[in-house]
Parts: sequence; structure tokens; C-alpha cells
Amino acid sequence: MTEYADGSVVDGVHYHQFDIVIVGAGGAGMRAAIEAGPKANTAVISKLYPTRSHTGAAQGGMAAALANVEEDNWEWHTFDTVKGGDYLVDQDAAEVLAKEAIDAIYDLENMGLPFNRTPDGKIDQRRFGGHTRDHGKAPVRRACYAADRTGHMILQTLYQNCVKFGINFFNEYYVLDLVMVSDGFGGQKPAGVVAFELATGDIHVFQAKAVIFATGGFGKIYKTTSNAHTLTGDGVGIVWRKGLPLEDMEFYQFHPTGLAGLGILLSEAARGEGAILRNSEGERFMERYAPTIKDLAPRDIVARCMALEIREGRGAGPHKDYVYLDITHLDPAVIDAKLPDITEFARTYLGVEPYTEPVPVLPTAHYAMGGIPTNIQAEVLSDNTTVVPGLYAAGECACVSVHGSNRLGTNSLLDINVFGKRAGNSAAEYVKTAEWVELPEDPAAGVRTLVENARNSNGTERIAIIRRELQESMDRNAQVFRTEESLTEVTEVIHNLRERYKNILVQDKGKRFNTDLLEAIELGFLLDLAEVVVYSARNRKESRGAHMREDFPTRDDVNHMQHTMAYLSGDPMSADAGDHIRLDWKPVVVTRYQPMERKY
Ligand SMILES: Cc1cc2nc3c(=O)[nH]c(=O)nc-3n(C[C@H](O)[C@H](O)[C@H](O)COP(=O)(O)OP(=O)(O)OC[C@H]3O[C@@H](n4cnc5c(N)ncnc54)[C@H](O)[C@@H]3O)c2cc1C
Repeated sequence: MTEYADGSVVDGVHYHQFDIVIVGAGGAGMRAAIEAGPKANTAVISKLYPTRSHTGAAQGGMAAALANVEEDNWEWHTFDTVKGGDYLVDQDAAEVLAKEAIDAIYDLENMGLPFNRTPDGKIDQRRFGGHTRDHGKAPVRRACYAADRTGHMILQTLYQNCVKFGINFFNEYYVLDLVMVSDGFGGQKPAGVVAFELATGDIHVFQAKAVIFATGGFGKIYKTTSNAHTLTGDGVGIVWRKGLPLEDMEFYQFHPTGLAGLGILLSEAARGEGAILRNSEGERFMERYAPTIKDLAPRDIVARCMALEIREGRGAGPHKDYVYLDITHLDPAVIDAKLPDITEFARTYLGVEPYTEPVPVLPTAHYAMGGIPTNIQAEVLSDNTTVVPGLYAAGECACVSVHGSNRLGTNSLLDINVFGKRAGNSAAEYVKTAEWVELPEDPAAGVRTLVENARNSNGTERIAIIRRELQESMDRNAQVFRTEESLTEVTEVIHNLRERYKNILVQDKGKRFNTDLLEAIELGFLLDLAEVVVYSARNRKESRGAHMREDFPTRDDVNHMQHTMAYLSGDPMSADAGDHIRLDWKPVVVTRYQPMERKY
């Protein structure tokens, strides 16, 4: 092992050793680091400077049944989460989420997060879609918030606390591979990760006893998206390429209120504060679809209703292709105090004054409900039940599954805090007794080949064009509404783009800050993940949550109240008809709520 000792450089590759390596410095990664750091030698590796992670863009709030402003309790929160997820939620996980929410908020408060307050000094709470009092009777105020920049405050607070604990950060390092070795019992376990340093182009191997993936979502498989450019699903793609399964990938959330034509998000907090969706006739159409909670129905329902209004000719604007979000009846002082950033977005990007004019909005790709399967200890699973020892995942890249087929607003900032903390604790506990896992001969070989192949790409295909064609086809064919026909079309597009991907041109041949090369590699992950989304969607012949099949318009609890498990079973680059993806099912954990008709 001496040749790979901490700090050594062998054949130009840098070697490091940590008990725990966390990939990703968003909310989930840093919350894990705060637990693990004081107990074990921990490193956080991030392709972005930590405070640039997408968690910082989160606006509206974080759910917890604190009951600070009206009656509430964690059981109602659990029920709403299960019903919101159209009963595909694992109910043991949802209970953990709702119960531990209370402490998750107080943890952040104790770390210094400046929440908005009630006049008597408690943490203030506001309404959000699908969160209700007493099993659906009326909207409840459950979202804790810091104006409309809650995620920004969470990310800054967590980063400051990581600095306080002296956590080691490797920023602008792109992890491109997970080193897996035999566990001696017929399975695999991690020995570390391999990263590419943006500034130098050098390769680094991080040997670790435990690895936590917290790499966020993959919204860039779509064109119209609220997600940052960096959300290319690298972590999910790396795990997939190791032959580990991905769960429920067909469930991708479209947030109802993206700025029309741009996808930039206007938080549901606007509707929580009283904003109303209107069609071209000025009608508050959600009253027809969800008479009890109207504009605060869960996102899958609202996004579908908006799309229907547009289809039926009641869209607004010259092309009748969007609807309005109306906040003109709100007091400007309330808007300024509680929704300052998003109203500024409407002014800056659309030239609309929200005090006096309704804002054009359209559904935008927002959140991956699916991802790397884990149990409630954040341990990664290699099939329906088997744990991969030493491997953990938390946050948007993971599927635990607390969101089922549709996540409720404010439950993701909660998820990253609750399951980030659990991942940190689980890994810290594991490394207490775990032995070092020996690295294989030349652990950097895979990444060296990946990088060199990309650097030497001298083909004719442009990365940006392949990416755009992928995103446009996903928007057209795998968005709010899907059919066998549309999914078949996008499958063919992906297969064709995969072929063209073999012939790309990477113009920058240099080592330093070679973002051209990294974009080529990220595009590979996007192609892989889009394909898994589409295959899983084709296989689910029912409509549930965010997955609406027009050719199978009803929910089918008899055959499909099960999670999808997708496995890579061949080389995607050499496959033709996509027989490299094997699909299986996994039972849903039901504890107390049997599936019911989902009315709001
Ligand atoms: C505009 C917007 C508003 C939102 N508002 C809300 C809200 O109000 N309430 C709510 O609950 N949810 C909200 N969400 C969802 C929520 O913010 C995200 O799901 C959540 O923050 C994801 O956190 P994360 O830690 O899993 O990932 P992220 O915060 O995305 O962090 C991912 C990390 O992984 C790192 N990384 C990725 N790939 C690699 C790699 N290859 N190598 C090394 N590092 C890598 C990145 O550098 C980054 O540090 C919002 C999302 C968006 C886009």
C-alpha cells in the first residue's frame, strides 16, 4: 500500500486518504460533513465552490410541523407527503422525514440561520402546495423560511459551520469515478473516488473507508428547467455505470411556475402568500380542478391543469401558450418583505411589474424524485434489499424514497437536512470499525481513459448541439404528458445522439480550466440518465404523480404500486436497441396509509 500513501504522487496521479469522502458540497453534503467531520477524518469534494451549489438557489422554504402559527403535527405532515407522492412514498421514510423535521429546523437555528420571525419572536411559517391541516381539510402554515432565499441562508449557514469544524474541502474537483472492489462475499464495496482538478487538469485518487454521494439533481436533461447549468447528474451517472440500480427515474417534477420561455423559477411561496393562477379569461381555473386547496394543490396536479388550460385554448399571450401568476392583489409591502427576489426576476427577465401586472408562467423541469436507492440510514442498495457496505447517498441524487412519484414543495430542503445528517452519522459509525479497503492496481485508469478520450476527440459533432437536441426532445416527449409514441420517439433520438456522441469535437486540448472537456464528459452522464428516465417511463403503464401517460390515464395500484429499479446490463456505447437496461420492481413500504383516491 505504500505506493499509494496519503500525499504521494505516482505517475502524475495524486493520492489522498480520508476515513470519509463526501462528494458534493450542497445542503446534503455539508449537512453530512457537519456530523461526520468532528468524528472522523472527512473530506468534501465539490465541482463547485460550496456556496455556489444549487441549494443556494432554493427560495420558498423548508417544511416542519412546528405549529408556531397554527395547529399542526408531524403525522399530518407524513400523511401529506404520502398522498402528495401519490402513494409511491416509502412510509417509514416519510415518518422519519416529518418527525426529524422539527430538530432539523432547530439545528439550523442553533447554527445561526436567520429565519423570518413572528411578531412574538418564533420562527414564522407559511403555506405551500399540498401541506394541509388534518388530512386535507385546508392549507396549513408549515414552511419555515428566510424571505424567498431560504436555500441561500441554509447553504451559507452550513458552510460557515463546516469551516468552524475545520472540514477539508477540495473545491472545483470533479469526481468522475467511484472505485469499487470485491467485498469478499460476492458483492462490491467502495475503496474511494477519482477526481479531476479543474485548475490543473491533474487526477486525484481519494482512498476512503466510506463514500457519501450528495451530488444533487440532473435537470439539465431538459431544456426548460429551473436547474443550474451544473446539474448534470454526475454522481447518479457514476453509480449507474458501476452497475448499481437507479430507482423511480421516470418521476421527474415539473414546477408549475417557471417564467414563461425561460424556466427561471418563481417559488410556490408566491401562491403560499396568496398568488393566484389565471387563464386568458382571467379565470382562477384551479378552483375547478382542486376545489378545497385550489392553487395550493401539489405540483404535479397544478402543472397538468396549466397544460390542459393551454391545450384547450385558454392560454394567454399572443400565442396562447402560457398562463398568468397574479399577485397584483397583494400589498406591495408584503411582496417586498416576503417575495423580494422572485418579483425582481419577473422585472429583470420579462420586464413585467408584478405589483400591477400578472406574470406569464409555464411548467419548468425542477426536481428528480428518483435516483440512487437508499434505506433510511442513507445506505446505498445494490438491489431491493442488499446494502453496499460503506456507500451512502443523500439529497436530490438519492431516492430514499420520501417523495414517491411527486415531491411536495419545501420537502427537499428538509430531505437534504434530515438524510444528509443521517448519512454523516451512518458513515461516521461505519468507519469506527471498518478496515481500509485496498486500492486496485492503478485506480485512476478509468478516469485517465475517460479524460484522454475526451481530450483527443477530433470528430465533427458539437457538444452544445447534441445537448440541445437531447434537451429539446426531452421537453417535447417526456415532459408533463407522455405516450408510448412520444417516449419511443425520444428513445430513438437518444440512441442516435449516443452514436453522434462518439464523434464529438473537444476543441480545448489543454490541461488548465478545461471546461470544454468537462462538458463533454457531463454530456455523457446526461445521455445515460435521460435514457434511464425514458426507459423507466415506457415501462410504467399507468399515470401516477408526475408521470402522466395519456395512453394509460389512471393509476393502477394492482400492477404498479411498486418502485421501478433500473439496472445497467451491458455497454451503453455499443448497444443498439437499448437492451443494456434491465427493469425490475421493488415493493413500496406501506405502514399506515392505504392508497386512496387523490382529491384536493
Ligand atoms: C431554483 C430552485 C428553487 C428551489 N426551491 C426549493 C425550496 O424552496 N424548498 C425546497 O425544499 N426545495 C427547493 N428546491 C430543491 C432543492 O433546492 C434541491 O433539491 C436541493 O437543494 C438539492 O440539494 P443537494 O445537496 O442534494 O444538491 P446541490 O445543492 O445541487 O449540490 C450538489 C453538489 O454536488 C457537487 N457535485 C455535483 N457533481 C459533482 C462531481 N462530479 N464532482 C464533485 N462534486 C459534484 C456540486 O458541486 C454541489 O456542491 C429548489 C430547487 C431549485 C433549482
